Amino acid sequence: MKPDCLILRLGELTLKGRNRKRFEKSVLTQIRKVLGSFPDLRYIPEYGRVYVELGGAAYEETSVALQRVFGLASFSPAYHAPLELEAIQEMALRMMQGLPKQPTTFKVTVRRVNKAFPHDSQRMNYLVGGYVLQACPGLQVDVHNPEVELRVELREEKALLYAEVIEGAGGFPLGTSGRALLMLSGGIDSPVAGWLAMRKGLEIEAIHFHSYPYTSERAKDKVIELARQLSAYSDSIKLHLVPFTNVQTSIHQAYQDNLLVTLIRRAMYRIAEQVAEREGLGALVTGESLGQVASQTLPSLNVIGRVVTLPLLQPLIMMDKQDIIRIAESIGTFPISILPYEDCCSLFLPPSPSTNPNLRMVEKIENSMSFFTSPN
Ligand code: ATP
Ligand code: MG
Repeated sequence: MKPDCLILRLGELTLKGRNRKRFEKSVLTQIRKVLGSFPDLRYIPEYGRVYVELGGAAYEETSVALQRVFGLASFSPAYHAPLELEAIQEMALRMMQGLPKQPTTFKVTVRRVNKAFPHDSQRMNYLVGGYVLQACPGLQVDVHNPEVELRVELREEKALLYAEVIEGAGGFPLGTSGRALLMLSGGIDSPVAGWLAMRKGLEIEAIHFHSYPYTSERAKDKVIELARQLSAYSDSIKLHLVPFTNVQTSIHQAYQDNLLVTLIRRAMYRIAEQVAEREGLGALVTGESLGQVASQTLPSLNVIGRVVTLPLLQPLIMMDKQDIIRIAESIGTFPISILPYEDCCSLFLPPSPSTNPNLRMVEKIENSMSFFTSPN
């Protein structure tokens, strides 16, 4: 049985009172965009929801596309029935029998929007529930904690029935929290950080530092591919590709000891901040996770993070690697991230990078290097 329409529930928006209209408009734009390849859909926005008449479009494909919309809390495939008791009972039964997994308990919840319908919602709960029960041996009613809640909306022109609720991507609609610069490496973490930032309503541009010819063209292509994959969740993503070889080799020529990674990191952050400010972006987003490597201990994060004054957003900071990988898999970046090409940060790695860099020492070394002090 093919669903006739989708009921889309817009997310966290209730929190946002006055901005609600803008938010709803923004989610709707994104919904229309991801469903753009289905020309026959009809959209009917309502308070906190959007009804989408499928007009024959395949539900499975639309539901995959909808997972890319931030600000969408959940959605349900729904079925139409004429406003007649028997037709509604019949449709309710067919839906219950067509569920992917047969439940042992259910309840019916009827909402009567159309007050001209002859039976009130209480009576309809009983009439529809009773009809399904007598046709499904083994099924029981549980009003408190049912496995399936079969909802019936008695609307002005027809009845709408649905039982499945599919979780959406959640978050805030794209761009409604502002714009930020994602520091995108070729690794597993930073694409996930970028996705989480977008889910919170940030529109992102990305910056990648490459050290050609020490790192290959393919390492760069991999990052372009990652940005492309992330752009499925937004309109498009501008990617700044920064040649970093000279900076890295200059630092390496002047200093080779255990603070090298810290110095290179700080140089990267400085450049990223300048690009962000030039582009009018309000924050940097990075993929650090506390304790994961030497540059991500608390003292390292302190010394590296101090170099910028823009808000530094590190969405993965408290997450376990397994949870990060799970997201990477679900957003399609994982297979790209694990391609073997080297990132520029693995260049010139000292044998034991400091896990406890001293800020004063780092600043002293930087002051002794002319390219840190003279304007470029
Ligand atoms: P990732 O999996 O994102 O590469 P990581 O665990 O390897 O992260 P680091 O190498 O310490 O961690 O990098 C920390 C963060 O610094 C990255 O998540 C990314 O945001 C940023 N970063 C690292 N290398 C680059 C690069 N070449 N270009 C841009 N940003 C980078
Ligand atoms: Mg990395």
